Amino acid sequence: MQLIKQNLIPFMGQIINLKRLIKFTNQNIIHVFGHTVTDEYLPHINPIYKPKTVLEFKKDLDYILKYFEPISVHEVLSHTNKEKIITKPSFHLSFDDGLKEIYDVVLPILKSKGVPATVFINSDFVDNKDLFFRYKAALIADRFPNEKERILAINYSEKNVLDELASQLNINFIDFLKAQKPYLTSEQLKTLQKNGFTIGGHSQDHPNYNLLSEFEQVSQTINSCKFVQNEFLEKNSFFAFPFTSEGIPLSFYGKIAQDISLTFGVSGLDFSNKGKHIERIDIENYGRNARAYIHRAYMTNFLKKITGTIKKRI
Ligand SMILES: [Zn+2]
Repeated sequence: MQLIKQNLIPFMGQIINLKRLIKFTNQNIIHVFGHTVTDEYLPHINPIYKPKTVLEFKKDLDYILKYFEPISVHEVLSHTNKEKIITKPSFHLSFDDGLKEIYDVVLPILKSKGVPATVFINSDFVDNKDLFFRYKAALIADRFPNEKERILAINYSEKNVLDELASQLNINFIDFLKAQKPYLTSEQLKTLQKNGFTIGGHSQDHPNYNLLSEFEQVSQTINSCKFVQNEFLEKNSFFAFPFTSEGIPLSFYGKIAQDISLTFGVSGLDFSNKGKHIERIDIENYGRNARAYIHRAYMTNFLKKITGTIKKRI
């Protein structure tokens, strides 16, 4: 099965035309996301994965725009609430972690193509107040590449180890934040808002939710969205899970329902009815282009449908 998943799905996805796949699956709306776009080497990110270049991102966007119309998260919400149903193939673009390249690099590209987007931010990191523990790990790994694997394996509950390691190795995260300013500032976020961006929450300090109690999951979620509402006066609260929404108990969704309009995960195209939870296709990781990711997501969905019907017939 693993072999089929790895080889057959992307391969078949190349053969069947995307327009046909959209029709077969009857799934008109896709959500695609990434983190950053840059031609530069980013020491807090590159040790984890290589971000898309400006040219790669532009090509991705042109490909997506050939098949889908861009829509804002507000249009997604009205569709979900059944106020204004979207019938044309459409896509909603979002970026996680609130990185500065969204302002420097992505904004001018999206503006020129008329594409709205959502940026999901961590309330503890806006204005370069602090640094995500994974980025801290990457900065250390960047200096000590031989130890990369072990350093990058450190998780949220062990994150203090990274601060200790850094002080012993003479790596100063505060200096890095001051000099590089990896995150968007409040001012930049307000400019983004004026240019078709919506701001959403992405937790306070980007924990692995599966390491938190449900109480902590709820407070990280609601606090980050309250921050967005207070600082940026967004009328609706949108939330993207840090890392993944896998393993989140159903009771969690009940507890945030009053405060959060929509939540977003990272599992591709999942159309099982989960109410106000929406999955997104990661178009950034592992060095492929958006075409490969989108085809793969549709093929997976298509095959699920086919196997579902076969099972029903049997
Ligand atoms: Zn994130």
